[in-house]
Amino acid sequence: MNGAEQSLDDQRSFGLADLPLREALRGRSPYGAPQLSAAVRLNVNENSYPLPDVVVDAVAKSVTGVLRELNRYPDRDAIGLREDLAAYLGHGLDASGVWAANGSNEVQQQLLQAFGGPERTALGFTPAYSMHPLLAAGTATGWVGARRDAGFGLSAHDAVAQVREHQPAVVFLCSPNNPTGTALPLEVVEAVAEAAPGIVVVDEAYAEFARAGTPSALTLLPRYPRLVVTRTMSKAFAFAGGRVGYLAAHPAVVDAIQLVRLPYHLSALTQAAARAALAHAPALLATVEAVKGQRDRIVGELRSAGIVTADSDANFVLFAVPGGGDQAALWRRLLDRGVLVRDVGLPGWLRVTAGTPEETTAFLDAVLAETAETAEAAEAAETAGADRVNGSANTTSPGGVS
Ligand code: PMP
Repeated sequence: MNGAEQSLDDQRSFGLADLPLREALRGRSPYGAPQLSAAVRLNVNENSYPLPDVVVDAVAKSVTGVLRELNRYPDRDAIGLREDLAAYLGHGLDASGVWAANGSNEVQQQLLQAFGGPERTALGFTPAYSMHPLLAAGTATGWVGARRDAGFGLSAHDAVAQVREHQPAVVFLCSPNNPTGTALPLEVVEAVAEAAPGIVVVDEAYAEFARAGTPSALTLLPRYPRLVVTRTMSKAFAFAGGRVGYLAAHPAVVDAIQLVRLPYHLSALTQAAARAALAHAPALLATVEAVKGQRDRIVGELRSAGIVTADSDANFVLFAVPGGGDQAALWRRLLDRGVLVRDVGLPGWLRVTAGTPEETTAFLDAVLAETAETAEAAEAAETAGADRVNGSANTTSPGGVS
């Protein structure tokens, strides 16, 4: 082997483990649901409805309007977009108390860059949105995975006790919570805001889907200057591909983020597209009630079939694998039936996004067929067991109980 071949060989065997990666990132997996092609994709809580024509036309016109000026940097402060977002949110907000970035993931990363970092910790109540600990790792912020109760609930008492114990620089509350779907009572948010020594972030990515009478933490902002509410256009607005997330908070929080944000982080194209979409907010949000209807249908039909589900204020439902089986096996079998749901790594549970009526039907048909098969197999196994006990050896395998 000559020197050139040797070095090519070295290059081929070179991998992540050979790089001088930061210790905190070693052994971690990147965030991401598998991007598989399935007939029915209900795994990343997107809005299943495409943008209506009126919004497509408005976005196209708005984007075309800035094309000639792409030689210039965009508005670094995205003032127009922030004004539009503040007007959408209401609650007396204006652009000074609103900040926007490439998805609420980036907003939360900026919050950790400003308020977390080395020698500080962030705390979240797991199971919750799995990006929160990853963003902490990426910003060298310590992470405390605090507990929920067995039914995934969180009382003010338990939340406050854990915040007092760990004194985190940043607390993440997720309401409605991903992956469980349930919104937090406002008194829990308030109790945490009272007890936390630092910033309290309420991730309200799914707020628009909440059941009637679920108040937003936006109502608390005037009383808690260290409280931050993050929102997104990725879910209810059906604008996940546009990558626009935002926060509402005291203007001082927005000032702090200016210290860490990249200059011109939101392209002129993104700003133009998002502003046009927001100008048609009612048309975009028109699908929210339909999605909520499918969400409630999933909960109702699964429960009627004896399948346990968490209460949902979001556009997805967390359901227990029937018969207490393995969630990875059911995930695979549903995929074999053309339905892609999400295994969030919670033993015995899977999460499904509420989509169109047709998608819901496909999901329910698949899951109910699987449940029937599992029940039949369990029954067969039981009969075989009884036969053995009765001495009439049954030699057929109870195969299919996977
Ligand atoms: N928060 C929660 C709870 C989410 O589930 C998601 C998306 N899965 C996000 C934030 C991030 O969404 P985006 O970056 O698209 O705004």
